[in-house]
Amino acid sequence: MSTLFVGGTWRDASHGGDREIRCPADGSLVAVVAEGTPADAHDAVRAARAAFDDGEWARRPELERAALLDAVADILVRDKDTFARAESMDTGKRLVESEYDIDDVIACLRYYAGIGGTDSGRVVDTGRTDAISRVVYEPVGVCALITPWNYPLLQTSWKIAPALLAGNTFVLKPSELTPSTAILLMRALGEAGLPDGVANLVLGAGPRVGAALTEDPDVDMVSFTGGLQTGRAIAAAAAATVKRVALELGGKNPNVVFADADFETAVDFALTAVFLDSGQVCSAGARLVVQDDLHDEFVDELVTRAQRIRLGGPFDPDAETGPLISSAHREKVAAYVATAIAEGARLRCGGGPPSEPELANGWYYRPTILDDCASGMAAVEDESFGPVLTVERFSDEDEAVRIANDTRYGLAGAVWTQDAGKAQRVARRLRAGTVWINSYHPYVPQAEWGGFGQSGNGRELGPTGLAEYREMKHIWHDIDPKPQYWFSK
Ligand code: NDP
Repeated sequence: MSTLFVGGTWRDASHGGDREIRCPADGSLVAVVAEGTPADAHDAVRAARAAFDDGEWARRPELERAALLDAVADILVRDKDTFARAESMDTGKRLVESEYDIDDVIACLRYYAGIGGTDSGRVVDTGRTDAISRVVYEPVGVCALITPWNYPLLQTSWKIAPALLAGNTFVLKPSELTPSTAILLMRALGEAGLPDGVANLVLGAGPRVGAALTEDPDVDMVSFTGGLQTGRAIAAAAAATVKRVALELGGKNPNVVFADADFETAVDFALTAVFLDSGQVCSAGARLVVQDDLHDEFVDELVTRAQRIRLGGPFDPDAETGPLISSAHREKVAAYVATAIAEGARLRCGGGPPSEPELANGWYYRPTILDDCASGMAAVEDESFGPVLTVERFSDEDEAVRIANDTRYGLAGAVWTQDAGKAQRVARRLRAGTVWINSYHPYVPQAEWGGFGQSGNGRELGPTGLAEYREMKHIWHDIDPKPQYWFSK
């Protein structure tokens, strides 16, 4: 299967291996793709290195690179259905959700295309009339972009758009489970006119192919989105050659609901916060932190509605959410639920696969609510990354903030109250990269995304998301050079 893209050429894996991609919704065969090897990863890095060092891409005017991003966005508009279907088949998520994702990919490409050429550094006041000092940007070089399976093309776009705008070359390594849209993206980049070698694609197992990229001395930067354990391994591997590292490692995000919140809206959003995409969202509001007075009524209503959530495959018009990504992932989620119950949590709903026979071939797991949870429980502290809501209670504002911040992560969180002052106070005190007030999940490519604590380092999106892919260079120009005679003649 010629699905590796190296130096502008589609090719098979070096050892001839391949891998079946199966839809998590029903186990059907989606594609057979090349199973790359570390040797393929190194070849791709060589190609990216040559395109960076010897090619014209890094020197091309930024406005022209921006125009190419726009051209790619145009192709995605034209081929949206193809991309969305491919994404749904790989991930099992509903087609409509994949369509939203592709819209967001297009918005990301357009955003970075739009800021192209608007910031070329700054002139520095040297305090002298005979010297000009400028700070300019340069691309970092060869980037290894390693992406997860939950939002495959979207997470990729957050990396490739700023990387390309800044003039870098890259090797993309998508999750072994969801490579299809990455393959389509390479074709779109080629159609838009990207020079050979600037974008390269390797597929294969993370611990082999991904690790080979992070260890390769010719890679200047690694940008990774995925799990905490993998992030730690990547940071350690990258340290050996002091690569620049950007990590987005998920979260265990608190959704803080005060008793004075608008009940109907807060209940509705609390469901979406945690059960969207069956909880496989790094910013999922998986920890409900609810005020004592509201607790019983609020959780009862959540349980009623969670039990009604309809599960189904990508093309089921009645489905409200889809399956988990894999059998192994479902087992992991189930283990968190079992451990939580053993630790004293009260299972209010869910807690296992659905009973409908038509869902038996997919990796479905019913929306699950665990009440009476507390910090120290694994289900509260770790990302289960499934449709599992833990419930904790608080009595006052200070306790709400303390519980919300009692996590090693810090990606996102929300606060629900009709008291504007309280909303602002709590929003400022939450240790997270994104805080929603009376909302959950919206984001825009203009605003930075990333985490505090062990949710990672660096930021994606916004101007800072571009800065991640730029080196800064100070150029000092003496316009009337004369000897200084610091040392005598
Ligand atoms: P991983 O962190 O293992 O995978 C993410 C990406 O990293 C994939 O492309 C993977 O490849 C690759 N990878 C894996 N190991 C290495 C390595 N040693 N060096 C370089 N790259 C590597 O996520 P999982 O799929 O295993 O999910 C584990 C957990 O991570 C989830 O349960 C969830 O908690 C969290 N997660 C968080 C996400 C987020 O958005 N922050 C997204 C996805 C998962 P491959 O898939 O081929 O192994």
